[in-house]
Amino acid sequence: MLLLLGMSHTLPKLPYAYDALEPFIDARTMEIHHTKHHQVYVDKLNAALETAPSLKDKPAEELLCDLSAVPESIRTAVRNHGGGHLNHSLFWTLMKKDSGKPSGTLVEALTTTFGGLQKFQDEFSKAAIGVFGSGWAWLTVKEGKLAITQTPNQDSPISTGATPLLALDVWEHAYYLKYQQKRADYISAWWNVVNWQEVQRRYEQ
Ligand code: MN
Repeated sequence: MLLLLGMSHTLPKLPYAYDALEPFIDARTMEIHHTKHHQVYVDKLNAALETAPSLKDKPAEELLCDLSAVPESIRTAVRNHGGGHLNHSLFWTLMKKDSGKPSGTLVEALTTTFGGLQKFQDEFSKAAIGVFGSGWAWLTVKEGKLAITQTPNQDSPISTGATPLLALDVWEHAYYLKYQQKRADYISAWWNVVNWQEVQRRYEQ
């Protein structure tokens, strides 16, 4: 058992302060979202993996890419909590204030696929508003093709072979303190803190 803890999943540090995205995303929401919600996904993923020692040191991404390789007894837990861990780890990096507008090859691809940046944003917002219950909206790339998709719960697009470029958490815990039930207001505010440089970096990769 020596030092096994060192190999388990841990909560990543936020790349900015809790108030860094104010006033669009408030500090209290960020703090609870990171230290409570995300932490629970990490803890429950580790707890599930207790029964599958050979999977313990695998990155969440690897587990979710091939859920069929995860024992059935913990598959749902890994899907939900591993997904929650992976999705939130990504989500934090995709937000930044004053990151500028997207440029270069990303804008070209968005224009080719969706008819322009604004049209992409409109369509993405519509998808995010339309997620029934708790889930996520995504911009993904699969075999070179961009797509806007939705997933329920904490499902990750990587489980269907797609790579996420942009992610939006539309669980109520992501916005309820500041926006209450007004998901559309949260989404319009969120566009102000999209880290386009990171989306571009992921696209080029
Ligand atoms: Mn969340």
